[in-house]
Amino acid sequence: MTQLNPFEISQIQLDECAEILKLDPNVKAILRVPMREMHLSLPVRMDDGNVRTFPAYRVQYNNARGPTKGGIRFHPDETIDTVRALAAWMTWKCALLNLPLGGGKGGVICNPKEMSEAELERLSRAYIQALHTFIGPDIDIPAPDVYTNPLIMACMMDEYSKIEGKSVFGVITGKPLCVGGSCGRQDATARGGCYTIREAAIELGMDLHNSKVAIQGFGNAGYYAASLGNALFDCKIVALSDSKGGIYNKEGLIPEAVYEHKAKTGSVINFPGSESITNEELLELDVDILIPAALENAITDKNAGNIKAKIVAELANGPTTPEADAILYKNGVHVIPDFLCNAGGVTVSYFEMVQNKYMYYWDEGAVHERLDRKMTESYHSTSHASKKYGINMRQAAYVVAVERVVEAMKHRCWI
Ligand code: NAD
Repeated sequence: MTQLNPFEISQIQLDECAEILKLDPNVKAILRVPMREMHLSLPVRMDDGNVRTFPAYRVQYNNARGPTKGGIRFHPDETIDTVRALAAWMTWKCALLNLPLGGGKGGVICNPKEMSEAELERLSRAYIQALHTFIGPDIDIPAPDVYTNPLIMACMMDEYSKIEGKSVFGVITGKPLCVGGSCGRQDATARGGCYTIREAAIELGMDLHNSKVAIQGFGNAGYYAASLGNALFDCKIVALSDSKGGIYNKEGLIPEAVYEHKAKTGSVINFPGSESITNEELLELDVDILIPAALENAITDKNAGNIKAKIVAELANGPTTPEADAILYKNGVHVIPDFLCNAGGVTVSYFEMVQNKYMYYWDEGAVHERLDRKMTESYHSTSHASKKYGINMRQAAYVVAVERVVEAMKHRCWI
């Protein structure tokens, strides 16, 4: 079978949901495609004096519930279909979390690892110059994603502000604290995921203390998940991995020590006192909780049947294929789907927008408490829909989210 691209996968998921909700075909047709997408060519002066043109995109998938929101990726393998899929998932994520926002996403085809800081700054400014008319605090609010960071966000905000002739902090989120960032943004994705794991464990009658956890991917999402899993619940993190391979210790790994090792050596592999394992082996370990926190399509029909975890908490976007989903559900594995599990990031980004608007900033305790409330409510709305319709948690998350978007479209007389 030819591999589906992420956008095709997102459309299959939506079609399943439309079937469950018996959606009018005209309404489904609106939801299956982005409302607006921009294809850009960005000329950028390189350090050697040449001008290179970078292809770039911004997709504004659906804004029925409010301005669109979603990150910008800088990646050599970026495609319009990945950006479309991520923009669709942002639409459902914001609706599921009941944020007054629609979904969007952006991407620039470039390799930031081969570019100087000055070239990256010129590229970031060029992206905003090209998009300026189509974004803004009430239109579309970008944020960081793969290979973009708070410094790039600050520079993009600065470019937008220069064009506007005033500081517009609210045009972008994920900024450094000194230019309108929010406390608690750094670990928000993992923290939000941990809150959903806590609720799932309560539902399943599982004790998280000393429960065994394996995490694939040791970047922002994976590292903080390991660290918070330890700190909040006293879980035992038995396996970790990155793109170079994995490590295992049945007595538990100390995430902060592994982080230091990775900072020194460039990878988690060869961490003292651990056994080497492959990324494939990590997914099939006998653990209580498996957290995919790296790439799309990690769990497929090839390995889903071998997964022994009771809970799969998807911090990564799109880590499970539709075929694998069906196998996990049949085998009684409790999946916390990506756009619920990893919604902590956009939720704190929304808090950042609110703080920018009010010019009044919250402390970390307030951010954590409000994030906990949002994640817990959304987990239970999803679980409730799963029981009500007798469907899996991903389909249930879709049902809750799509119903909310459709309701907004109805009230705006679009349908
Ligand atoms: P990151 O770049 O900080 O880390 C990615 C990690 O995955 C790295 O440790 C990398 O070595 C590892 N990796 C790459 N290829 C791998 C492979 N083949 N096998 C195993 N590991 C591999 O990225 P991140 O921000 O942590 O994002 C990870 C996932 O979480 C992505 O799917 C992203 O879309 C999703 N996500 C992140 C956030 C966030 O706020 N960071 C929010 C929502 C969703």
